[in-house]
Amino acid sequence: MGIIDILIHQGKQYIPDLSKPVLPEIYRGLPHLSTKACGEGCNACVDICPTDAIVHTQGISLDLGKCVFCGECQSECPEQKIKFTNDYKIATNDRKRLVIAEGMTEGVKLDPDKVRAEIKQFFGGSLKLRQVSAGGDNADENELNACSNVNFDMGRYGIDWVASPRHADGMVISGPITEHMAEPVQICYDAIPFPKIIILAGTNAISGGIFEGTKSLNRSFLDKYPIDLYVPGYPPHPLTFINGVLAMIRK
Ligand code: SF4
Repeated sequence: MGIIDILIHQGKQYIPDLSKPVLPEIYRGLPHLSTKACGEGCNACVDICPTDAIVHTQGISLDLGKCVFCGECQSECPEQKIKFTNDYKIATNDRKRLVIAEGMTEGVKLDPDKVRAEIKQFFGGSLKLRQVSAGGDNADENELNACSNVNFDMGRYGIDWVASPRHADGMVISGPITEHMAEPVQICYDAIPFPKIIILAGTNAISGGIFEGTKSLNRSFLDKYPIDLYVPGYPPHPLTFINGVLAMIRK
């Protein structure tokens, strides 16, 4: 088979519009929490959740920044109040927006008022990012790498990974930030010229995930600087990451 035959056979491998793909139904993205009443004394979703992502007070709420998308709460709920949808546009710049309440129908979006003016001013056409795996398990990192592959090709929007923080406009942190990675994260941040962006990719980076509260973590770096984008997922889907970054940099 010649090269032309192979190209015709394979068709277009890239996704023409990254805001349009529909993921399979089994993909777990934005959860919908119905307003159906819980059974008397039922706390099944809270009890099964490995990361305390669900809080049950008046109703239930689910924190996407803590959720590892295991789906156990959906399976366990006798009232079928929790349904994960295939909506992958769940990145935001407001940590509070990651908490999904009962009956919420709108998706997760960025707060345009919280996007720093210099981000829109300087990075609308080009954004170079340095990725730092701060104790990650390679799941988040694999998906971040996929953002640049032939399918997702985020380079078409001027968004690229760079090898040195000195060439970067911002850093993407994956992993829960272990004690050993606390200093390298700080060194990377210091080496990036102003104005600099911080993106947290994945549940582990946003909250610590299943490692939250363990003594092997040192997340003090996150208390010092504003976070420009939270990209939930365990791991985050490339479409979640790219659509979130585009929403942040586009004027
Ligand atoms: S899917 Fe998320 S909220 Fe549900 S049990 Fe798993 S970690 Fe908890």
